[in-house]
Amino acid sequence: MHFSPSVTARDPSATRRYLLLHRRGLVARRDGGHVAPFATEAEVAALGLDAGEAHVLGELDGDTVVTIPTEIDKDAVPAGYEILGLRSLAGEIDPALFGVVGRAFHVFDWATTSRFCGRCGAKTERDAKERCTRCPACRHTTYPRIAPAVIVLVRKGDLALLASNAQFPGLFYSTLAGFSEIGESLEETLAREVEEEAGVRVKNARYFGSQPWPFPHSLMIGFTAEWESGEIRIDPAELSDAKWFSARELPVIPPPLSIARRLIDAWVAEITGA
Ligand SMILES: [Zn+2]
Repeated sequence: MHFSPSVTARDPSATRRYLLLHRRGLVARRDGGHVAPFATEAEVAALGLDAGEAHVLGELDGDTVVTIPTEIDKDAVPAGYEILGLRSLAGEIDPALFGVVGRAFHVFDWATTSRFCGRCGAKTERDAKERCTRCPACRHTTYPRIAPAVIVLVRKGDLALLASNAQFPGLFYSTLAGFSEIGESLEETLAREVEEEAGVRVKNARYFGSQPWPFPHSLMIGFTAEWESGEIRIDPAELSDAKWFSARELPVIPPPLSIARRLIDAWVAEITGA
């Protein structure tokens, strides 16, 4: 499967595959139990959706992938279709395809929050070449928002700091994460988040990797860091628990595909030699 992103269709005559987006998830059918993420041109027409609202995402194996934001009432989803949350799709569709659907979610977020100018309130127009809207009255431009968030595996000798989120207490233990604030470097975000949430100071932050996180518009930037000082003291508004774990006695950790899991897996592999 090869996906190449673009804003306009490279080949206007190519077959179009539609991803129908709703604020609650992807509107899709199941085919023999498997999620069929794409709708055809005929299905889009049968559903009465406006193809003029479509946004090109790119080219997938020669076909043009297009997304249409829909406002279907959740109780009036057409027969045979359901609304599937992006998180629930993670284990159901191919990881490469999951990335394409994630892009559609991010485009949906931008398309449905940039209809009016944030400066003067006029109705905006879509740019023909770039992924942005422009205000015809004051020329203000709105690009999709991308919110950087740092995610960090903190090490202390052979142990790693993992925490359970206050919103999902006890569901699983994961690495610490937080959004960058205005004026911060990623290193400053990392140090502040770890100290605020878990009460410890860290040093030697090292870049690990990154992952788009379309919930609804983040970019997770992964690091490892070393404990410098302090005992764990959690912020109960953010965390329900945090502990130093050994690689051989892990709690329930996040599911595959997340960068949190990749950080943990890489650390476990290094410690255990597995
Ligand atoms: Zn304006």
